[in-house]
Amino acid sequence: MASFQSVTPPKPVARPEDRIKILVEKANDVSADDAIPIRRYWQSAKQLLRMANVYLDERDFEKCFILYMKLYIEKLPKHHEYKQADPIEKTSIKNTCTKIFPLAEEVKLKIKANYEQEYQTYLNQKKEYDEMVKNLQIIQKQKLENKKKEQTDSFVANLQLELDKKKRELAENKAKSSLSEFRNVHDDNIKDGENLNDIVSGDDEDEDDESITNSSSSLISSPNLSTIEPINKPQIDRSKKPLLETLGTDQLSQMIVPFKAITDRFVALARANTNRNIETCAILAGQLSQNRFTITHLLVPKQSGTSDSCSATNEEELIIEQERLQLITVGWIHTHPTQRSFLSSVDLHTHAPYQKMLPEAIAIVVAPTSNEICIYSLTDHGLDYILQCRQTGFHPHPNELSLYGEASHIRIDNNLPIVVVDYR
Ligand SMILES: [Zn+2]
Ligand SMILES: [Zn+2]
Repeated sequence: MASFQSVTPPKPVARPEDRIKILVEKANDVSADDAIPIRRYWQSAKQLLRMANVYLDERDFEKCFILYMKLYIEKLPKHHEYKQADPIEKTSIKNTCTKIFPLAEEVKLKIKANYEQEYQTYLNQKKEYDEMVKNLQIIQKQKLENKKKEQTDSFVANLQLELDKKKRELAENKAKSSLSEFRNVHDDNIKDGENLNDIVSGDDEDEDDESITNSSSSLISSPNLSTIEPINKPQIDRSKKPLLETLGTDQLSQMIVPFKAITDRFVALARANTNRNIETCAILAGQLSQNRFTITHLLVPKQSGTSDSCSATNEEELIIEQERLQLITVGWIHTHPTQRSFLSSVDLHTHAPYQKMLPEAIAIVVAPTSNEICIYSLTDHGLDYILQCRQTGFHPHPNELSLYGEASHIRIDNNLPIVVVDYR
């Protein structure tokens, strides 16, 4: 027989229509940020499509749907550069969206079917669970009643024993006191043939019985039945409604970083610049599979750098190459030739668009002189803050430590190789 301890309620599953509503709201949470150049959106759209297709192949329909919805970029016409944007890019995006729309609807139907199935399974499990709890409660109630009865029976039996004992004691005491009284008062007047026992027993026996009965309640405490603990009281909180299942789409996907390969190769190819106190930068690109990103490529663009800045000069070339290799931009890496590893205010502004386009995007900062290499990402607050900050060049940000930190969604795998493409 199952006990309450071994019966666990099924994990609550929200109604399919509620889950779909949350999913659509999440998917629609896209905005075109004026702080990010519109060309980054074109580039991002291609990456989103590639990632969505990976999720579709892997039958991760929720993530696929969210990415498809992000592609709609309905808000893009509100971007301040939209009117002047390349008409070819605009048409291309529109055409893509037109093609994607029926596919997204199909994916949505699949998600809905999954939700319905999960909900039905939950309802069945809940019904089974409720019935089991009901049965167990009946058994518990019966056990409790049996225990109460046992205790009451035992109380009555004890009471009877105590009564008998008290009665005997009283009878003995009475006999003694009567005898002594008799002796004192009537010592000289005992008549022949008078039976001592007759005097001792008297006629008030019934009265004594009553007094014993009445006083007995103070001699034997009755069991307080209301305090008997129910056995294994079930802990079932019925006030809680089923919680909405988390969609699992808020969490960042893991980023696998071949740290040693990347940093060894990068430090080597940056050495000439580092020796001249000039920064070097490169793009980190990779692939998505099984809901994990893996950095596979280090793309070093033509660039111009100073002691505290670095920028690519042939971005277009890089984008074309990434398209060809079907790579996803997952972040960037740069050196601080004489300083320590941190993200300067300019670095924060450089990184924000990467992370806005891909929440998992990381920034690696290599400080060759101190041999300090860290992997950073902006906090949610930091990303919002930097995208809203309109200052340029080096400038202070209040409470800078709250804006970014070491990325927590990465996993180092030093067994993986890296492909370096150097365009310089
Ligand atoms: Zn920097
Ligand atoms: Zn700023």
